Amino acid sequence: MALKSLVIGVRIDETLKAHNCQANAKHRLQHGDRRLKVRNGRSWDHYCGSCAATILSRDIEKLTVLQREFSPATKRT
Ligand SMILES: [Zn+2]
Repeated sequence: MALKSLVIGVRIDETLKAHNCQANAKHRLQHGDRRLKVRNGRSWDHYCGSCAATILSRDIEKLTVLQREFSPATKRT
């Protein structure tokens, strides 16, 4: 049985051509910058490092809440 994952559409790569961050057009990615690639349908969205940090910590919070729901230690009253 395959282990399913929620984070199948996420990668890190390097910017090949300068472009704007997809979360904020004021964030400019330069050639060689590390960026977060997120699957969006058939294509990918690309985010700068600072937006990537925000997105990741927000999602970790969401996952922590979900994890708590399924933890045997969670009391259901
Ligand atoms: Zn950004």
